[in-house]
Amino acid sequence: MDTTPRAIRSVKGFADLFEPWSALFTRMEDTARRVFGAYGYRELRLPLLEYADLFSRAIGAETDVVQKEMFTFPDRGGRLVTLRPEATAGIMRACIENGLCGRESLSRIFTCGPMFRYERPQKGRMRQFHQIDCECLGLVEPQADAEILLMLLHFLRELGIRDLVLDLNTLGCRLCRPAYGRALTAFLLTLSPEDLCENCRRRARTNPLRVLDCKEAACQALLRDAPLLPDHVCPDCADHFAAVRALLENQGVACNLNPRLVRGLDYYNRTAFELISSAIGAQGAVAGGGRYDGLLAQLGGPDLPGIGFACGMERLALLMDEAGRNRPDFFIAAPRAAGTALELAQVLREAGLCGEAAFSAGSLKSQMRQASRSRARFCLILGEEELAQGTVTIRDMDKATQHPLSRTDLPAWAAERLV
Ligand SMILES: [Zn+2]
Ligand SMILES: [Zn+2]
Repeated sequence: MDTTPRAIRSVKGFADLFEPWSALFTRMEDTARRVFGAYGYRELRLPLLEYADLFSRAIGAETDVVQKEMFTFPDRGGRLVTLRPEATAGIMRACIENGLCGRESLSRIFTCGPMFRYERPQKGRMRQFHQIDCECLGLVEPQADAEILLMLLHFLRELGIRDLVLDLNTLGCRLCRPAYGRALTAFLLTLSPEDLCENCRRRARTNPLRVLDCKEAACQALLRDAPLLPDHVCPDCADHFAAVRALLENQGVACNLNPRLVRGLDYYNRTAFELISSAIGAQGAVAGGGRYDGLLAQLGGPDLPGIGFACGMERLALLMDEAGRNRPDFFIAAPRAAGTALELAQVLREAGLCGEAAFSAGSLKSQMRQASRSRARFCLILGEEELAQGTVTIRDMDKATQHPLSRTDLPAWAAERLV
């Protein structure tokens, strides 16, 4: 009988994050602190566990998140607790509990860390995932909407992420949204329920707005003539939306008006937005958010407006990786010259590059394989010929081209790589 103990595995949907992800996450968090700090945002570290009713009250008892996707369980004292599925509700709870949002005050807060949703794990979607979340409390003006979007774009630019489309919509307010909801429900009643997908049939009763952003082609076709929010909001909401768009346009930010963008959570009103990347396919939203003017009061706090967003760190990391933001600069292959390899590596590191050298006695071929596994941009080759001539061969790993360089020219070569 085999008595070897069975190896313990990680929980399904909970991943270990090694390099490059751990390094990309660190760089993302550092960039967030620097960029958001420049806009007056302060960091808040939230607990991972909250009482379950925080989320049913904040997110909405009828939302998919609360109904199907939360890790909720009784603690040893029998109280229902939840691993946070998002950060906004916790930030609101913390602000109310700590008196950070008195009527006259203003709070700009960000947080980052793991969130938890009990979904079917698939590529790019784990049960523990990570978000960066920003919230601005106390400002009702359209400048606040424009500023937080400019800050988000600034942050993404600093991460090297480009080719993003900004989808924008207005969701109305507590005055005009109910009338729109009735118009939408009346429209949905004209459809035969069996033509809608299962999700839409349920949402038509519980959360009609969500029907609008169903991804099923059949539902989309049926909803072509559905009433849309921007045509039904009150004059104040329409003015606010026009002002936000004008401010963004002034700053050279192009927006795509998307009247079917409704976001998944009940608490949003007025401005709603998503940033979509063309680089990772149809499911390419890398950040999303909007206004939630009634949320604080709904949770027992003062009646202050708010606006915020969350970005998925896994998605951002994928895009940063594509932008080549986390590759070593060099790998030194030197099958018979480990000592010289160490010397050259030090020269390059002193000059500001990062990378490693092979010290093993392996063949040039196996060291070249190591170089490509390391994902370095350049491989510096020190063979017999190079050693004899005091040169090094520099191979561009992406272009598969190479040229010789005198070793004395290495610091200058490194300096060029830094710009
Ligand atoms: Zn309104
Ligand atoms: Zn549907």
